[in-house]
Amino acid sequence: MLSNVALSRVREFLGLDDNEQLPSHVEGYPVVYYTKDGRGVCTACANREIDQAQAVVDVAIYYEGPPFTCEDCEKIVIESAYDDPDPA
Ligand SMILES: [Zn+2]
Repeated sequence: MLSNVALSRVREFLGLDDNEQLPSHVEGYPVVYYTKDGRGVCTACANREIDQAQAVVDVAIYYEGPPFTCEDCEKIVIESAYDDPDPA
């Protein structure tokens, strides 16, 4: 089994213990996780046991922008903290 160094950095950045799930919010703000294959995913998908291509490598607080649909399950919509400043 390959070790996921990037994910362990994400977990360390978030201050998680080994057995804690990735959170949906950090400091009260919604977050989007990014996978090795370059997709933005929801917390549920980030926490799923998956193959290496979908391993979580980064996390970002979603401050503003239109509601973001998870690019994996395409079901979960992440609302930004401050909405879309420039709606179309
Ligand atoms: Zn998802």
